[in-house]
Amino acid sequence: MAHSDQPAMELRRLSFRYPNGRLALEEITCAVPQGDRVAIVGPSGAGKSTLLMHLNGLLPSPSLSKDEEAQVVIEGQAVTRSRLQQIRRQVGFLFQDPDDQLFCPTVQEDVAFGPLNLGLNRAEVLVRVERGLAAVGMADCLTRNPSELSTGERKRVCLAGILACDPSILVLDEPTSNLDPRARRQLLHILREFAGTLIVATHDLDFVIDLCSRVLVLESGKVQADGPTERVLSDPLIMDRHGLEVPWRLRR
Ligand code: ADP
Repeated sequence: MAHSDQPAMELRRLSFRYPNGRLALEEITCAVPQGDRVAIVGPSGAGKSTLLMHLNGLLPSPSLSKDEEAQVVIEGQAVTRSRLQQIRRQVGFLFQDPDDQLFCPTVQEDVAFGPLNLGLNRAEVLVRVERGLAAVGMADCLTRNPSELSTGERKRVCLAGILACDPSILVLDEPTSNLDPRARRQLLHILREFAGTLIVATHDLDFVIDLCSRVLVLESGKVQADGPTERVLSDPLIMDRHGLEVPWRLRR
């Protein structure tokens, strides 16, 4: 169980090199308090997805098997191979492309997949599925085939499956990509209702303004700026230097 005074997520000098030699993250140190909503922004290739994938062990930090040198710590616990199952209960991960996450013939089965994997009994799984779908406004889609839904709807089904596992941390990679304005607004509303910690990598800076209180600017695998959303996103020096633009809403 998480203590309220320990960070939801902590990175301690996290570096990561892909097998082809590319250094994607370099000595990243940061902590996110529980309940915070943090955006990670930066140009393409900055390392945003690579960072997110470390938060539930989708990519192995070099210390994955050595607790004493933990580089990724979730609610006080090092992300190690032996704890991956537990970590994945705590950290729900929404992929950019819903098709990476949906593979069942019905919405109900897709949303049930996670809770079933947690070992919950059928009755509890059904309750979780209904609750998850209700939270994303898709309670009447149980028997639909996910492949026949719009991108926005498929993304919401993915989110329902994640919420059905009751995570305390939600990690989202480009959640608004390919969403029309209404689907984007719906997603914003759902995420605002989520009471846990949110970590979002995105190019959608208006979404960041509406959702997040803190922004990390990443470039070349390093944290280049870290501060309150409006202060970071309205600073033309920071934004220009890292290939970003001050959003219209914050221009003076
Ligand atoms: P972002 O999400 O900010 O666009 P990524 O985390 O995807 O950035 O990529 C960071 C760096 O790592 C980039 O230089 C990218 O080319 C490289 N990279 C990403 N995935 C791989 C991979 N599977 N193999 C080798 N290099 C990769």
